[in-house]
Amino acid sequence: MILPGATIGIIGGGQLGRMTALAAARLGYRSHIFSPDADSPAKQVTPYATTAAYDDHAALKRFASAIDIATYEFENVPLDTAKALGALKPLRPGAGALEIAQDRLKEKYFLRGVGVGTTAFRPVESAEQLARALAEIGPRGVLKTVRLGYDGKGQVMLGPETDAAAAWNKLGASVAVLEGFVDFACELSSIVARGEKGEIAAYPVVENRHVNHILDTTVAPAEIPVAVAAEAERIACHVAERLDLVGLLAVEMFLTKSGELLVNELAPRPHNSGHWTIDACMTSQFEQLVRAICGLPLGSTERHSNAVMKNLIGDQVETWCDVLTDPAAHLHLYGKGKPSPGRKMGHVTRLLPKR
Ligand code: AMP
Repeated sequence: MILPGATIGIIGGGQLGRMTALAAARLGYRSHIFSPDADSPAKQVTPYATTAAYDDHAALKRFASAIDIATYEFENVPLDTAKALGALKPLRPGAGALEIAQDRLKEKYFLRGVGVGTTAFRPVESAEQLARALAEIGPRGVLKTVRLGYDGKGQVMLGPETDAAAAWNKLGASVAVLEGFVDFACELSSIVARGEKGEIAAYPVVENRHVNHILDTTVAPAEIPVAVAAEAERIACHVAERLDLVGLLAVEMFLTKSGELLVNELAPRPHNSGHWTIDACMTSQFEQLVRAICGLPLGSTERHSNAVMKNLIGDQVETWCDVLTDPAAHLHLYGKGKPSPGRKMGHVTRLLPKR
């Protein structure tokens, strides 16, 4: 057990690191942030920081000597960095979960291997392979880079009229995955926490609405049949177990019009679709992460309210003052500088009576 008073090292300095550090502080832990930028959202809330590139192994060693346990707030931490850190201090979740979650192809093969449904897909390494893959699983599809894609970046939508060579050049990657387009009924996510002894706690399944491929709104709980929510939760628990994950796992899924659940993405970290838990659940996803990685008892994931979480993206953040006049709203701002299109600047959670 890592006891209160210990120092949690967090790789990444964004809003997820910030909210993890705030939750850690409430339980009496210190947080030490490792990120390349000096004024990141997470570094504003704790005095312990290392400012260095993610592949600076000398800085990583110094960081390791200053912490008791490490975690990460984004899945594109270089694998070498995660492995080197994991050899020095406990890293939770481990490098294995990261390796799968940072590579869309490995993720899909893993999911298939453990009996979980995914979109139809083909690996693609050239315009010719893309044309062949489209003929097999098209005519509509989404071409995605295998690595480093997020919020719709590194994605090209393809339709029956698309020229495969032009789409391949537009993506500009050497390895990609073509996914069949899913005409989904809605998008869901299930967030689960898993402790060292294999104990699991699942949050209510939520619905996520995206605008321009970026999460805009989360509705908690999702208004779906109980059996579908139970199946989504079962899938997330199963994946966390098969990854032997200690920490948090968010599983993003499509619910098809025929009632099938297809996993789109895994994130072994706190997730934007879990921000509502700060204000509407007994234990927030951030506190739950701290509890899971430190070996504390997991908290109750029960919600005391229903909630709608709205991201404040780009200049939407300028509505912050109006939000403050809404008695049902909780405002969270991330301390970022200038808003730019697509940049997540904060979020608002509006509470509703529990139904
Ligand atoms: P991703 O980066 O994979 O999470 O994709 C971002 C968003 O793009 C998803 O949340 C969906 O709204 C949309 N999207 C991604 N892949 C597909 C797909 N295969 N079919 C339909 N929509 C998709």
